[in-house]
Parts: sequence; C-alpha cells; structure tokens
Amino acid sequence: MSTSTLIQQVTLVNEGQIQVTDILIVGERIREIGSIPAQDEFVVIDGKGKYLLPGVIDGQVHFREPGLTHKADLHSESKAAVAGGVTSFIDMPNTRPNTLNLEFLAEKYQIASQKSLANYGFLLGINGENLDEVLQWDTSGLLAITDDGLYFSGKGNILADRPDMLEKIFSTYKGLIAIHSEKEEIIEKNEEIYREQYGEDVPVKFHPLIRSEQACFEATERAISLAEKHGARLHILHLSTAKETALFRNDIPLSEKKITTEVSVHHLWFTDRDYEKKGTLIKWNPAIKTQQDAEGLLAALLDDRIDLITTDHAPHALEEKLKPYFQSMSGAPLVQHSLVCLLEFFHQGKISLEKITEKMCHNPAILYRIKERGFVREGYFADLVLVDLNHPWTVSKENILYKCGWSPLEGTTFHSQVTHTWVNGQLVFEKGTFHEGAKGKALEVWDLKN
Ligand SMILES: [Zn+2]
Repeated sequence: MSTSTLIQQVTLVNEGQIQVTDILIVGERIREIGSIPAQDEFVVIDGKGKYLLPGVIDGQVHFREPGLTHKADLHSESKAAVAGGVTSFIDMPNTRPNTLNLEFLAEKYQIASQKSLANYGFLLGINGENLDEVLQWDTSGLLAITDDGLYFSGKGNILADRPDMLEKIFSTYKGLIAIHSEKEEIIEKNEEIYREQYGEDVPVKFHPLIRSEQACFEATERAISLAEKHGARLHILHLSTAKETALFRNDIPLSEKKITTEVSVHHLWFTDRDYEKKGTLIKWNPAIKTQQDAEGLLAALLDDRIDLITTDHAPHALEEKLKPYFQSMSGAPLVQHSLVCLLEFFHQGKISLEKITEKMCHNPAILYRIKERGFVREGYFADLVLVDLNHPWTVSKENILYKCGWSPLEGTTFHSQVTHTWVNGQLVFEKGTFHEGAKGKALEVWDLKN
C-alpha cells in the first residue's frame, strides 16, 4: 500500500500564484490540492508559516560519474541536490569516457538508477568526431545534445568556434542543441598578453579580461545568427555578460522560442571584486565578470530574456582548484545552495518567489520538455520542496554535502533553509536527515507535439 502524505496549511508558490492550501500526496504523485480533511492513515506535515515550491530542476550539472569520482559521484551530489531542494538534474557529458554515444549514455542512466536520490537526465555529447554519427541516430527521446565540457580535436576548440560545424548541426538536427559559447581565438590572444607579463601565475582577477566579454558576445551573436538562418533550436548555456542579454527576446512565451538561454547562480551571486578574496575558487568558464554584468543578467532574468537558472555545479578536489591560474581547474560546486542563494535575493527585494519558481522549476521543465514535473499539479509527480524563509544558517565544512568538501560560499549566512524535500512522493530529505531507500527516476520527455 502506498503512503499518503498531507501537507497542511502551507503557502504554495506555483504558476504565478501564492496561496495557503493543503496538498495530498498519494504514492508517487500529487493527488489533490485544496482544503483536504486529515484521515487516520495520512502522514501529516504541518506547513504553517512555510513555503512549498515545486522541486528545483537544475538544467546543468557535472556530477562526474563515471570516471572522475575523486571529485564527485551521483550519490554524493544527488544528496547535496535534494538537501538544497533540487529534485531533478540534467548532467553534462564530460565524464570519462565522454558521453559520446548512446551506449555510454545508457550506462549513465543505469548507474544513476542505483545511486541517485534525485531524478536524473543526461545529455548526449557532440564533438568533432561523433557529429556525423549523431546526426544519423534517433535522438527524439533525448533531452538535448551538447558540447558542454567537451572539446574538438584541436587545441581548446569549442563548438561555438566552428561555424562550419554549427551550420551542419543547425541545418540537420531537429532537437534541442545546448552550447557553451565563447570564442577561443580571442581568449588565446588574451592569454598570451597576460602570460607575457606574468608567466604562468597570472593573477586570477584578470580571468574576466582573458575570457572576456568580447569572447562571449561574438560567439553568442554568431551562434544565434546561424541558428536563426536554419531555424534550429538553440540553447546558450550559462550566459555571463549583460551585453549578450540584448541578443535574446522576451516578446513571445518560452514554449514558442527557438533561441533560449540561462544564467548560472554564480554569475548572479559573485562579481570580479570577489576574486581578491576567493581567488581561483571562483574561477569558472565563462568567467565571473563585473557588478554591471551581474545586474544586467538579473534584469534580463526578470524581464524574461533569460529563461532559466542553473548551477553548472562543477566540483573539483580543493587541490585541483588551489593552483596557479593556468593550472587551476574551472568550475565549483553549487547545487546544494542554488535555491537559498535565490531566496536570499528575494529577502533583498531583488526577485519575487513566483519568479524564482518560474525560472528554477517551471521553465526547465518547459525548455527540456520534461514530462509531469516542474509544476505542482494534480496528477503530476510529487517533487516538492518545503522552505522556512526565516531560519538563518551559515555554510561551513560541517554542513557541506559535496564529495569535494568545500564551497565558494563558505562563511555565507542564508536566511532561508530547505526543511523537507519530496522526490516522486518520497520524503528523501527531512531537517538534515536523508531517507535513502527510494531512488530517483529518469526524466522523461513529452512528445514534440505536446
Ligand atoms: Zn557546464
């Protein structure tokens, strides 16, 4: 017999509305939303004074399994995810081996089914070697294809740097193509300038001048114009500059857009002023840029030129980060802290709870056509997160759940705390404890006509 859970008198944030209501979960799904009398067999959760959101869907993470499990794995990082209110994630293909064929892709789904507490989806990687093959395969059931974290055979060549390849994909591939967008030739020139001056140990504050605004803007502008020429479905991953936001539109709903984009939490949270204190711990690609960029990205998120928020959660061992500039790995872990970061912006009056829910829960489901998730709706999977907006806590080594054991947010105090997380109707996280029996499920996609 399946468990029934009644969440009583909770403030539900969903589909642009905030209302106090009861929610009944039966088995894996939401049975009813409304005024619901308690029954003896119900597990009752008192939601008074707390906020219930659809579970966060993180559209871009690197959970490092298989092959790089000294940094992270699907069990450790999915635990961190559910503790942060993230009930589903989409993982990138730069694991070892790179996820460049359907067999390796199936293997990742298989590992996740054994180990992940959250629901999972994996993207198929494209690079210079498998492109022709990918274009022949039936990929209609996949979430998307991407080059994120992968490189073409030459030195540091990313897809956005190869107009010939882009033309080929955009003219042939019918599904969603997600790309990392920076022009490598500009970056390489900039690297040489700073290398001449500082050798291998370039101060990290120059990172946003090396991986510059120009490198981002020119790549994004070109990718969009090529995609438009062919009517392709293009998603630009982790936008990092205010200038690029002008390239995206907000006059049509997300479901009708062919060109979409996202912002990652760190590009909203940090600015170039933080390099002095945090050093290579906040070295990301694309780089953290200026205060104006962070403000411009937030403005574009609020007016819907930017469609969703991701983390690009990319853990490395601390010793891989604490190296001179050129050797320090790019990326940092964030999946446990993304929702509380955005709730902190809410406390600061920068964003509403409805907008957070739209950009972190609803829109990833719309953009990746994820079936029956991302919304609190009767009949949908019960992926839910309960938050206490007035429960301050501070990020420290003791409460970090990432396998790598560190966070660029150590020492930060958040006013909000995730108290309960349900995945497929199962209470997997409750006030610091995990119920690990149930595992997450593979994300499924709606047929294209839906
Ligand atoms: Zn990434």
